[in-house]
Amino acid sequence: MRYVSTRGDAPVLDFGDVLLEGLAADGGLYVPREFPALSVSDLRDFAGLEYHEVATRVLAPFVAPSLSVDGLAPLVQDAYATFTHSDVVPLSALAAGEHLVELFWGPTLSFKDVALQLLGRLFEHELARRGSFMTVVGATSGDTGSAAIEACRDRAGIELVMLHPAGRVTEIQRRQMTTVDSPNIHNVAIDGTFDDCQDLVKALFADRPFRERMRLGAVNSINWARVAAQTVYYVTTAVRLGAPERAVSFCVPTGNFGNVLAGDVARRMGVPIDRLVIATNHNDILTRTHRTGEMSINEVRPSTSPAMDIQVSSNFERLLFELNGRRGAPLAADMARFRTEESLALASEVLARLRAGFDAGSATEEEVAATVASVNEASSRLVDPHTAVALTVARRDAPVGGWTTPIAVMSTAHPAKFGEAVLEATGIEPELPPTLAGLADRDEHLTSLPNDLVTLRDFVTARCSR
Ligand SMILES: *Cc1c(COP(=O)(O)O)cnc(C)c1O
Repeated sequence: MRYVSTRGDAPVLDFGDVLLEGLAADGGLYVPREFPALSVSDLRDFAGLEYHEVATRVLAPFVAPSLSVDGLAPLVQDAYATFTHSDVVPLSALAAGEHLVELFWGPTLSFKDVALQLLGRLFEHELARRGSFMTVVGATSGDTGSAAIEACRDRAGIELVMLHPAGRVTEIQRRQMTTVDSPNIHNVAIDGTFDDCQDLVKALFADRPFRERMRLGAVNSINWARVAAQTVYYVTTAVRLGAPERAVSFCVPTGNFGNVLAGDVARRMGVPIDRLVIATNHNDILTRTHRTGEMSINEVRPSTSPAMDIQVSSNFERLLFELNGRRGAPLAADMARFRTEESLALASEVLARLRAGFDAGSATEEEVAATVASVNEASSRLVDPHTAVALTVARRDAPVGGWTTPIAVMSTAHPAKFGEAVLEATGIEPELPPTLAGLADRDEHLTSLPNDLVTLRDFVTARCSR
């Protein structure tokens, strides 16, 4: 398997390079030169397999030739052994034909674990193979930070520096990061906002000598390996709901287009997926683009589903590349225009293809709270606000007469992770699972730094140099 950039002007790489590189040199994102195919008999076989076995089969063509099936299998098995549900990604029925795909049974209770638990192990394996090391630097407003820390802790060859805005993440989110006691994990509370943290990270990456000396790497969702890992639960869910004999549709809460993009990849590989429904909160750039054909940036407004409070959806570029017939040069021009004008009109054929494969809808904060409450009333179940965004859209925007296939709604966080919003909507405080129950009593490890690039650079040099 070889990987090409969506902007058509970067070296063609294999999986190991794409894994460590992140962003392509031309500013684009790496995608496979062609998608591997899953046959009808593959899908039939999968019905009898465990999650990690399906994952190994689905991912093997993406990682070859950097990594063999025999090299991949133990990493995958180990990654998903950290999940506390025996199905890894279990499926539960909410109403007739309506299912929740529970993506939150990993160590930090959000769907980020599904990709990052594997990514940390892939990093370690590839670095050992090369006799190399990397310094992962990231900024987080919540879920990504703890998932990346759990994925990278105690791994050989990796130092991880995670920035969060001091006093601006929830107590649970902070403690999930800072109570990890591992010599290669460095939590930094920046005296500033999340945007300040992101700007600092970008500035570190822009310092070329520093970047090369420290071998900076990234764990954000531009990394193709994350998308690949996420295709697996579309496959396992479709098979559980009747594939290959029967098609299924998915409704996915999204901001950065990472999760739902993986559904599109699974469909391109041959999984019988009918509709993919893009569900956004009031930060609705994706829904507006689908409705109007104009992709334009608005101000970000905080919501009860903060992991989707995003206005630039980086993975959408990968879909645009498919929709424009995989033409890198015109896409590069489009993305440059989008960056300067903060707006881009999609070509009519691109928009038509988008609408042919996807639906889109956004949920207001009132609708989200009402959905959390009504699910609790009808089924005595608590769902988190991100999940409720998708449930709202799946129910409200169902075709007249209902979905013609089963509809699988992605449940991306454990309700306790966003307990305040759940309490507000239902009057019930969701309980943290036993693995996190002692969180409030553990020691915290973090360094407070001012919003200053030189101070941060010195800190990273002192902590992470080899
Ligand atoms: C990150 C996240 C999302 C959004 O994921 P995308 O990559 O934008 O699709 C949704 N829900 C939760 C709980 C998340 O942590």
